[in-house]
Amino acid sequence: MINPFRSIVGVDVLANELLSRHTSFHIGGKTRYLVKVYSHRALKKVLDIIRKQRIRYYVIGSGTNVLVSDKGFPGVIIKLYGIFRTMKKRGDIFYCGSGLSIEHLLQKAKGLGYGGAEFLAGIPGTIGGAIKDNAGAFGKSMAEIVIGVTVITDRVIISRLSNREIRFGYRQTKIKDGVVILSAELKLTRRKHWDITTEIRNNLAYRKQRQPTGYSAGSYFKNIKPYVAGKLIEDCGLKGLSVGDAEISRKHGNFIINRGHAKASDVLELAKIIKKKVKNIKGIMLKEEVKLLN
Ligand SMILES: Cc1cc2nc3c(=O)[nH]c(=O)nc-3n(C[C@H](O)[C@H](O)[C@H](O)COP(=O)(O)OP(=O)(O)OC[C@H]3O[C@@H](n4cnc5c(N)ncnc54)[C@H](O)[C@@H]3O)c2cc1C
Repeated sequence: MINPFRSIVGVDVLANELLSRHTSFHIGGKTRYLVKVYSHRALKKVLDIIRKQRIRYYVIGSGTNVLVSDKGFPGVIIKLYGIFRTMKKRGDIFYCGSGLSIEHLLQKAKGLGYGGAEFLAGIPGTIGGAIKDNAGAFGKSMAEIVIGVTVITDRVIISRLSNREIRFGYRQTKIKDGVVILSAELKLTRRKHWDITTEIRNNLAYRKQRQPTGYSAGSYFKNIKPYVAGKLIEDCGLKGLSVGDAEISRKHGNFIINRGHAKASDVLELAKIIKKKVKNIKGIMLKEEVKLLN
C-alpha cells in the first residue's frame, strides 16, 4: 500500500512504526502508519482519507494508559503535535491543545499563579488522554476543571461539547473512540505560588512512596467502590507474581510492570490470573482501566 497521506502538508508519516516506542509499557507491535499531525487542516485531511479509504484508526496521546497487542495495530495511529501542544490563557480559562502534556500545563499554570490542577501532578500523559477517561487522583478528576472540549468526528465534523455533554464518570466519558479531542477549556483559579508548589511536591512525594517506577500503564484495574483494586490484589497474595517479564509490582498491587522484555500476551495472561483469583477469593470481578489496542 502506498502511503495515502504522502501529499498532506503538516504531517510526518512513519510506516511500520513499532508502538512499543510510543507507550509507557514499552510493549506493542507495529502499526501500518503512525501519523504525526501538526495542524487542524492536516488532521481534517488525514481523517478525510481515513474515512474514504475505510482505514481503522486510533488516536494516542503519550500512550500511558494503553496496552498494544504484540501483533500491533493494522491501521493508522494518530499522534498530535504542533498547534495541538500549545496553550493560551484568557482570564481564568486555559485553552489547551489536546496534545499538551499535563506536566507542561501544571508548570505553565504555576508560573502564571494559577492552581486547581495540582491533583494531576505525577500523572503522565496529555490533556486529551486525561479528558477521554477522566483521569484523576486524590479524590479529584478532570471533570472538575474542564469547561468544554472541541472535538472532530470520524465524519470530519467539528463541534464543541460542554462539561455536561462530555458526561464524565469514574475513569470514563461519553466521548467515543474515533472522536478526536482537539482542544480543551480548563478553568483554573488564582492561587499562591507557594501553595501550588507545596501541593504538587506533596502529591509527587506520595506517589513516589506508594507507586513503583518502571515500565507500566499506571493502575491496571479500576477500583470497584468501595473496594480498592490494589488492596484486593494484595489481599489475594498476588504481589510479585509474574508471567514472562510481566510482574505484579511488589510495591503496589494494581501496577503491572514490564521488567524489560514483557509481551502484551504476558500482561494479558497475568491480568487474567488476577481477575480469576480476585473473583474466586473476594467475589469481585475487576475491570481493566488500561485500554487494549489490537
Ligand atoms: C506511572 C503512571 C501513573 C498513572 N497515574 C494515574 C492516576 O493517578 N490517575 C489516572 O487517572 N491515570 C493515571 N495513569 C494513567 C494515564 O497516565 C492517564 O490515563 C493519562 O491521562 C493518559 O494520557 P495519555 O495521553 O497517555 O493517553 P493514551 O494512553 O495515549 O490514551 C488513553 C485514551 O485516551 C484516548 N486519547 C488520547 N488522546 C486523545 C485525543 N486527543 N482525543 C481523543 N482521545 C484521545 C486514547 O484513544 C485512549 O483511549 C498513570 C499512568 C502511569 C504510567
